[in-house]
Amino acid sequence: MKQRRLFEPEPEPTPWELVDRADQVCAQLVFNRPLETPFDYLIPEGLQPFVKPGMRMRVPFGRGDQAIVGYCVGVGRPATPNTRLKSVLELIDQVPILTPQMLELTRWIAERYLCGWGQVLEAVVPAGVKNQAGTRRQLLVSINPERWPGPEPVELPPKQLAAMTALQREGRPLGIEQLARLAQCGTGPINALRQRGLLLSTHERVETGSAEEEKPFERLPDLKLNVEQQQVLHPVLTALRAGEFKSFLLHGVTGSGKTEVYIRAIREVVEYGRQAIVLVPEISLTPQTIRRFRSRFDSVAVLHSHQSDAERHRHWQQIASGRVQVVVGARSAVFAPTPHLGLIVIDEEHEHSFKQDTVPRYHAREVALERARREKVPLILGSATPTLEAWQRAQQGEFELLSLQRRAAGLRLPPVHLVDTREDPQFRSGAAIGRALRNAMQQALAAGGQVILFLNLRGYCPVLWCQSCGAPVKCPHCDVSLTWHRELNEARCHSCEYTTEPPKHCPACGKPGVRYLGTGTQRLESEVRAKFPGIACVRMDSDSMRKPGSHDTALEGFRTGQTRILLGTQMISKGLDFPNVTLVGVIDADTVLHQPDLRSGERTFQLIAQVAGRTGRGELGGRVLVQTACPQEPPIQFAAKHDYLGFVQRELRLRRQMGYPPFESLIRIILRGPDETQVNEAAQMLGNTLRGAIEAGGVTARILGPAPAPVTRLKNLFRYHLQLAAPQLATLQTLWRQHGAPCKLPSEVELAVDVDPINLR
Ligand SMILES: [Zn+2]
Ligand SMILES: [Zn+2]
Repeated sequence: MKQRRLFEPEPEPTPWELVDRADQVCAQLVFNRPLETPFDYLIPEGLQPFVKPGMRMRVPFGRGDQAIVGYCVGVGRPATPNTRLKSVLELIDQVPILTPQMLELTRWIAERYLCGWGQVLEAVVPAGVKNQAGTRRQLLVSINPERWPGPEPVELPPKQLAAMTALQREGRPLGIEQLARLAQCGTGPINALRQRGLLLSTHERVETGSAEEEKPFERLPDLKLNVEQQQVLHPVLTALRAGEFKSFLLHGVTGSGKTEVYIRAIREVVEYGRQAIVLVPEISLTPQTIRRFRSRFDSVAVLHSHQSDAERHRHWQQIASGRVQVVVGARSAVFAPTPHLGLIVIDEEHEHSFKQDTVPRYHAREVALERARREKVPLILGSATPTLEAWQRAQQGEFELLSLQRRAAGLRLPPVHLVDTREDPQFRSGAAIGRALRNAMQQALAAGGQVILFLNLRGYCPVLWCQSCGAPVKCPHCDVSLTWHRELNEARCHSCEYTTEPPKHCPACGKPGVRYLGTGTQRLESEVRAKFPGIACVRMDSDSMRKPGSHDTALEGFRTGQTRILLGTQMISKGLDFPNVTLVGVIDADTVLHQPDLRSGERTFQLIAQVAGRTGRGELGGRVLVQTACPQEPPIQFAAKHDYLGFVQRELRLRRQMGYPPFESLIRIILRGPDETQVNEAAQMLGNTLRGAIEAGGVTARILGPAPAPVTRLKNLFRYHLQLAAPQLATLQTLWRQHGAPCKLPSEVELAVDVDPINLR
């Protein structure tokens, strides 16, 4: 968030450096700070042979010469000779932890997303790799070839001679303890040899503890592709064989067998001895997904955020050594250090979790595209509901569009019925399951089927509301309504996780009578248990799935049929493939629709289409009931007809009229600070500066705002934002670099720059 540091003056040199060092070699370093250009540091002569780009080193920084870690991005003469430079203090890595390709890619990210190169590097290298988790340093000794055998014979005491002979016999560097054992001597003679310069010492990282052996997976044969699948695979294979960059948008309805297409493409890549990266949303990294790849390839590495540092480090090393064929992971797996990349796949391309919410605010799709372009490999973006951004680029020919319009095994997409909640008195009395859905559930269960209920609100009651003054009860730190969690009897803020006892009196007017409104997943669970006594039901949301392994247990129970009803949030909306699910109920299709967000229509369509895709995957067929108070709203209508094309055509027309993405690019600037007036003034000042620059330069760009952000207060900080819009992203990047970034803001006001923002709260 501390973007303003970009413009801190360069650190003042100290007097002892006031000499001409133009003949010396420098390391160009970047830091985990929002700084635009690398800094030159002198490399002491003794370190010069070892310094390589991609290594980390410790250097003095800033006025106080505090020692901090920098990433070396280049080695050479100083950018400006005769400047006074500081020196590198020590090297942290013995070998580069970043390849030249990764350095180039991260520089591109910093430029595109307007952040510091060092900030990107800090983010792409996992913590476990940085601290080399799961390994320890071991001292190794080897014979110094210049001294032994030397030009003149060297007289050695017997034990030292035994050590030299043993080392010669082994022919490789050995640990001191190991050598002492082989030579049957103590460590004293060996240390004496080191002191005499007959032995060279090096350090090596060795793994501590043994890695857990992966359970062998039952190997499954490739499935037979249907005609449509073969047709879409063909152009991908052609690009693979030509060894060229090409991007494909694979639009395939739910259940059309996209994964099988990916697997065939990966098979080809593996046969060339190359590696493939498959990105999936974090919540789709289920054992089911992983099993699909492990049962088809010999060596699959999985990267996700729940791994320990040591595990991550081990996987990273294995990938870097080329021993892994397929890397499956969430967003950050796009940085997997595959030595010979052959293909990148992004499944569920429409998922918002591919955009990172903190610095660097990159989108994995854009990074994957850039990486694929640089490494000359194909990229497949797959989705049943592609983003409008991807669809528009396919229409313009940037991506080649491939479509799978039918479900794989000749199954049909399930019929979707809309239920108007305004016509059912059940809802007025607070029920979440209306008459129609209840009947449908009874029928499905009676016929031996299973049911999935989807609701994207956690907790028991999402709204606490005062009967007397009509004000919602909000978090004292955020501009967000508190949610009642009944199990723990607490009111919780879903933005900052502040919790309190549910208030008996209204914090605004002081009168008693706080009411609990709405239904969250916990309350839905109670209602299901009351309406369907004796039927096993499980709830999956971020509250019930806190314990490690609970996710697997819940899905396993549903897979075996022990659990008949599965209810939950986004967690259950995608990827699940259970042929016995004959009914999907969407409890409230309107929760996303009314959000003040340019993508609310798109999200509503995607949610319904994805959840609907969880049924009709077996011989029993399936159907979907969608409860809504707005059955006439186009996103809901189109989703009910499985009409993606109709939806995108209409939505693109609206976006074009409004000047929204994909027709215009956006950069969102968020200012936040403890004092609202100060934040507001800083936002106005920034807005005026940028407007002035646009007018003076005749630039084709607009500024929306400044205005209070939709969530005006978050974790005790006031938030204002402004948005820059233009047909070309480059226009905005230049505008920001030249006029926005140099603005001096009060030190309490923090700035965040979000290029191509998705989260607009
Ligand atoms: Zn009140
Ligand atoms: Zn809060």
